[in-house]
Amino acid sequence: MKNLFFIFTLIMINFNQLFAQELNIYSHRQPFLINPFLEAFTSETGIKTNVVYSTKGLAQRLQAEGENSPADVILTVDIGRLYIYEDNNLLSAIKSEILNKNIPSHLRSPKGKWYGLSKRARVIVTSKERVDINKIKNIEDLANPEWKGRICSRPGSHVYNRALMSSIIAAHGIESAEKWAKSLVNNLARRPQGNDRAQVKAIFEGQCDISIINNYYFGKLKFSEDPIQREWAESVNLIFPNQGENERGAHVNISGGGVAKHSQNKEYAIKLLEFLSGQKAQNLYGEINFEYPANINIEPSDELKSWGVPREDKLPIIRIATLAPEAQKIIDRVGW
Ligand code: FE
Repeated sequence: MKNLFFIFTLIMINFNQLFAQELNIYSHRQPFLINPFLEAFTSETGIKTNVVYSTKGLAQRLQAEGENSPADVILTVDIGRLYIYEDNNLLSAIKSEILNKNIPSHLRSPKGKWYGLSKRARVIVTSKERVDINKIKNIEDLANPEWKGRICSRPGSHVYNRALMSSIIAAHGIESAEKWAKSLVNNLARRPQGNDRAQVKAIFEGQCDISIINNYYFGKLKFSEDPIQREWAESVNLIFPNQGENERGAHVNISGGGVAKHSQNKEYAIKLLEFLSGQKAQNLYGEINFEYPANINIEPSDELKSWGVPREDKLPIIRIATLAPEAQKIIDRVGW
């Protein structure tokens, strides 16, 4: 198996030397999400792409391959995952005026190692029937004892919730953040379980009244081919937290990418990231997956706008990653 893998790597390298206009992408993003982007890129530039897709283990693979790695570009979701690549010195620091112009500084690596390409907001969902939306404005409100036994949650240690926890540490400090988490756990209707969609289902079924999800899951349910999932979406209101004048804005996370440290095709790799930060690709993020453009000059899709567009927490996104170990400790201590 190892030999096969080695031969495969060698073939990829030779391919690159023969046909320089090809890019190898290691992707944690699902093929149906990135293929439309890559097709648009190829038709615009003539540069072909090969994708190695996996939900897990790509960073280890890149590390094991070392200088022989055929990878040119890494694409993934969540700053926590992106940062692992930087932390393990697997990314190349790049300079691009286009990327620096398109992507605001709080959504990219201070060293030019990775760039946010789309944004997703972590939002509150509440039962239309059983929760007065005027009673919940901020993520902090979920600690209110009024909601005892009424909140559902995915496990705290999932990256989405760990990132949210980091954002609360950044806003309030460790002690207050832990108090919040403890109160949230005290308010849970059931043991933390399931993914984001399962939380909306639980609200629909009356197991709880309030939860936290990434905004795009609302869109996926709303436009699901499964009529029952459309009913789940229909049963909830979306609340963008922390939107008040003196509030910090909703916590957002990113999908993003960087250039592999040992890429033999850095010029094209940068071209792909630039393309992904441009108008055509930025519109696709909204159309395909209900994500917000990371490019400050591009408006969200009409569908996203119809839900309301949240003001976002402008915390440098790298802080979400560097605070993750503290966040995880809190999550473990409170049993979220
Ligand atoms: Fe997701």
